[in-house]
Amino acid sequence: MTVLEVAVPIPINKMFYYLPLSNVKLEDIIGRRVKVPFGKKVLTAYAISYINIKNINTLKLKRIIKIIDNDNLITEEAIKLSKYISENYVCSLGEALSSVIPTSMKPSKKISENKSTEKKVKHRKCILNTQQNNAVNSINKTLSKNVYSSFLIHGVTGSGKTEVYINAIEYALKQNRSTIMLIPDISLTTQFLDIITARFNKNIGIWHSGISNNEKYDLFLKAINGDVKIIIGARSAVFTPFKNLGLIIIDEEHEHTYKQVQKPSYDTREIAKWRCKYQNAVVILGSATPSLESYKDAIDKKINLIELNKRIDNKELPEVKVLTLENRTFKTSSFLPETIKAISKVLARKEQIIVFLNRRGYSSTLICRKCNSIYQCPRCSISMVFHKNPDLLKCHYCGNTEYLPAPCSVCKCKDVTIFGSGTQKIEDELKKLFKHARIFRLDSDTASSNKNYEKAYNGIKNEEYDILLGTQMVAKGFDFPKVSLVCIIDADTSLYIPDFKSIEKTFQLITQVAGRTGRGYAKGNVIVQTNYPQHYAIEYAKKHDFKSFYKIEIEQRKKLSYPPFCDIAKISIKNKKMEKVDEDSEKLFFSLKDLVIKYKLELEILGPVSAYIAKLNNIYRKYIIIKGDRNNILKLTEFLENFKQSVGTFIGIEIMPSDLI
Ligand SMILES: [Zn+2]
Ligand SMILES: [Zn+2]
Repeated sequence: MTVLEVAVPIPINKMFYYLPLSNVKLEDIIGRRVKVPFGKKVLTAYAISYINIKNINTLKLKRIIKIIDNDNLITEEAIKLSKYISENYVCSLGEALSSVIPTSMKPSKKISENKSTEKKVKHRKCILNTQQNNAVNSINKTLSKNVYSSFLIHGVTGSGKTEVYINAIEYALKQNRSTIMLIPDISLTTQFLDIITARFNKNIGIWHSGISNNEKYDLFLKAINGDVKIIIGARSAVFTPFKNLGLIIIDEEHEHTYKQVQKPSYDTREIAKWRCKYQNAVVILGSATPSLESYKDAIDKKINLIELNKRIDNKELPEVKVLTLENRTFKTSSFLPETIKAISKVLARKEQIIVFLNRRGYSSTLICRKCNSIYQCPRCSISMVFHKNPDLLKCHYCGNTEYLPAPCSVCKCKDVTIFGSGTQKIEDELKKLFKHARIFRLDSDTASSNKNYEKAYNGIKNEEYDILLGTQMVAKGFDFPKVSLVCIIDADTSLYIPDFKSIEKTFQLITQVAGRTGRGYAKGNVIVQTNYPQHYAIEYAKKHDFKSFYKIEIEQRKKLSYPPFCDIAKISIKNKKMEKVDEDSEKLFFSLKDLVIKYKLELEILGPVSAYIAKLNNIYRKYIIIKGDRNNILKLTEFLENFKQSVGTFIGIEIMPSDLI
């Protein structure tokens, strides 16, 4: 009797057995996605293999319902990679497969055109400087050997990392090998697609959450068949099933978007390294502000370090001026007088400005004048943000909205004042201060569609706007030659967050935003407004001094025993009832402690602590943190399966989380 072995994307780590369709050849089933009955549901699953069994009670086995794919999508690499994910990020093989080969892809009758092919092409090639040339030579030399290797390009902003990538891609293409080019945010797709298309013209695909399920299927197939050679995309593009992989490039490798938070909570950098090892390919991580983890790997010689410490064409790094925010009241302008003066000068020269504030909405919140209470979201333990036009309070975590005027939840009065500023308020202030300036605001309130990103990008590039105002979306990778001033309205927003990475993130953010200026002919200037001008994150960002920052920060991590000096797992315990969360997290904490002693695992168990936002969308959340060696952590998490929690309690685990809040 022939029985199919099927991996189902559910949190049970075993294979399930089904009967094949009787009129279909086995080779037309194996390696494809299939629809299977599972309990009362029908699920998309993966037909991995078959076995012949005698004496099996086939009456108990159900038959698969349908074969979804016309083509064989499940490669041997996909199965091995999924096993690696399942073992290293605590999930089932089926769940891992659902990341590697998305369940949502749909085969289409006619082949759809991936957007990239519509672009007009203009060939251009830059002349590399000595540092870029050396970088390209060492990467290409490794490519020519067909062995695994990894590089970290630490290049200051504007040092021409992209040109190094392109030359490596070109070499890989000559070897008939493919490239996966990863970017931290889909907003950067247009910019990269323009550059890549201008150089390579064809066989380019883009992959991100915005493209349709039919398009994804076609692209997947083209990648398998070698009809596409370069993929540009966000995190999940790391799974593009190229069979002849030459390069995986991870641009802005320090970005937290490379870490998937939901199950399977993989780290794109680890997946890229695994795939490149499997295919004898080369992985390139690039950043002006490498993560402490990657930079330590470079210092420890686990990854080859390439330094680009000069901007191209010997352009100077921007001059950063730090201004202290003092005596602020509710009514004072968000702009210090010196900042206003600087903006006026740039506008007069008809150059462009980026204004950055990491907070959308109008103001941080409303405060009651009578009792001083802050307007909190009734569903979350965090303040609501005031938005204008229409006037409302919005929770940025659960989306809850309340129309104004809303009475104070404590004393019921309606005498309120606004506190702190968001991008909407900054926009208002800019309009009043600079009446003729053309302003574009880019934050997640305006950028709900990809079109808005493109509008901002094209609008600034074509000089239809003078000021680009926005949240961290404007900090990432944009390259506009006419921007000669960057203003950071409040550099401290990320410093306040109680997390082991918040200082690192602040340094990265300031350096990255500052790096958006002085990339063209004009010299760049940066103004940083802060309450903490002496903070080392701000001081070293001002000096463009990553190495000194690294030295201090890495010592802190060592002292407090945080990554990269240990591995971490974050266990979250969630329930609608607060007392159940308390009860279960205590119980779990002590059973983990017992296990650590019993099995002599060198692990530290911390907590349970309330999450930074202890209540989110009416669900209470606590964390237990495990610190130690990855293998020990994984051994311990195996026991989690047997833990009996209360009804309604959800227990999740994230390996190597990008934050602990
Ligand atoms: Zn909320
Ligand atoms: Zn009140």
